[in-house]
Amino acid sequence: METIQNAIDGRNVTSHAPRVAPVYNPATGEQIASLPLSTAEEVSGAVAAAARAFGPWAASPPLKRVKPMFRFRELLERHADDIARAISKEHGKTHADALGELARGIDVVDFACGIPHLLKGEYSRNVGPEIDSWSDRQPLGVVAGITPFNFPAMVPMWMYPVAVACGNTFVLKPSERDPSAPMLIWELFQEAGFPPGVLNIVHGDKEAVDALLDHPDVKAVSFVGSTPVAEHVYRQGAASGKRVQALGGAKNHMIVMPDADMDQAVDALMGAAFGSAGERCMAISVAVPVGEKTADRLVEALAPKIRMMKVGPATDSDSEMGPVITAAARDRIAGLIGQGVAEGADLVVDGRGLELQGYERGFFLGGSLFDRVTKDMAIYKTEIFGPVLSVVRAGGYEEAAHLVNSHEFGNGTAIFTRDGDVARAFADQIEAGMVGINVPIPVPVAYHSFGGWKRSLFGDLAVYGPEGVRFYTRLKTVTARWPTGIRGGAQFDFPSLK
Ligand code: NAD
Repeated sequence: METIQNAIDGRNVTSHAPRVAPVYNPATGEQIASLPLSTAEEVSGAVAAAARAFGPWAASPPLKRVKPMFRFRELLERHADDIARAISKEHGKTHADALGELARGIDVVDFACGIPHLLKGEYSRNVGPEIDSWSDRQPLGVVAGITPFNFPAMVPMWMYPVAVACGNTFVLKPSERDPSAPMLIWELFQEAGFPPGVLNIVHGDKEAVDALLDHPDVKAVSFVGSTPVAEHVYRQGAASGKRVQALGGAKNHMIVMPDADMDQAVDALMGAAFGSAGERCMAISVAVPVGEKTADRLVEALAPKIRMMKVGPATDSDSEMGPVITAAARDRIAGLIGQGVAEGADLVVDGRGLELQGYERGFFLGGSLFDRVTKDMAIYKTEIFGPVLSVVRAGGYEEAAHLVNSHEFGNGTAIFTRDGDVARAFADQIEAGMVGINVPIPVPVAYHSFGGWKRSLFGDLAVYGPEGVRFYTRLKTVTARWPTGIRGGAQFDFPSLK
């Protein structure tokens, strides 16, 4: 069985960690690799390599730093199928879905290729007599990324292309569930010609994460994962003086207005709720039809489509939805479905107990649909992170919008309507970071930035795009004059133009 290695200072490094974790193929339930849970000392080794690489890397001209970025981009395109297969094997998502994830990661690489333009500063001549001033943004040093299992290629690529293009060096701690895609991509990163130590990978769990959070040479931490861990990372990172952006969980609602095109809304919900087995932070897990008639039509149209959905392994090109990530995740999701039934929701489609011939030990669940879910139920309050869609019926638009605004999460949300006034009010007043109007999964493109509100993001800046550049750089403002501009004598009052 393969043993996953760390990647430090341009080389694969065997970990001597006493603890290891299994990596599974979720479609077959088989363990396919063993992953080291690196020690704090091993994390320190990766940080030291990144710290050594930082000086010359930060000093090299931005135009030179993007030369290997262009080559990296080409290599990613060339090896897209291999990377997608590595994603699917350990995550379970379909090949097309894995290719889509990679494409959105490559978009960030494209954005990072434009860093010379993005790092241009501001200049003001004559801020005082013969005094000029300019501001520019400089890299921070060693920065770290800690990422979740659900996008093993894309989420790390939300971070390090921008960070290293800005002149930082990077230590990535990927998810312990699906480490092979980030490792394959790291090899391409090296092949592209980045100097050793610019990007390093250490595998592990809480011990490795806490070592990064406490390390004095790590200047900033980007985290994406569940809300309890995001909050821990934010608090501990900030307490040790770091800049932190920590993106957490979600419970994304989609409002369906009575005037919406029902076929479009149903298709949108199918993909947004069940694509990637619902394991997306931008998945729609709550549908809010407005009015009883809209709700009846919606549930009637969704139920047969969910029953007919093709659930299967990624190796079958007909599969529309793969397994969930672990046996524990499957059992937790099934437990929550049971709780929904016990609390009185109508289970219209029950995806529990699905067995696929030849894949009896895989971590599969069918799609589930609940109707008449209410605000006090666990299935409404909790992020299920599985193929379960809850319908909460609302009497009017105001009630539907109030539901979204009063939920603890505020990652994404969408409305389906033909009414421009309602759509405009929704975009204006809704409390979520990413809003879709007739777009179910409004993930911002690479030259905007990604981030939720409320308990979906701890910190001030979103990831990638212009906010990513701000996160990975700090502002410096220089005020300069030359001998002819210097007046004689000491000045004791505060300098002003009066
Ligand atoms: P997770 O929180 O379990 O793990 C995320 C990372 O944190 C992993 O690298 C893991 O090793 C590490 N970790 C886990 N427990 C830890 C602890 N106690 N202390 C320190 N580090 C710890 O999340 P996951 O199950 O891998 O991913 C699913 C979650 O990620 C969902 O909640 C989903 O909504 C969220 N997510 C959010 C976004 C977003 O942009 N907001 C994007 C993708 C996923």
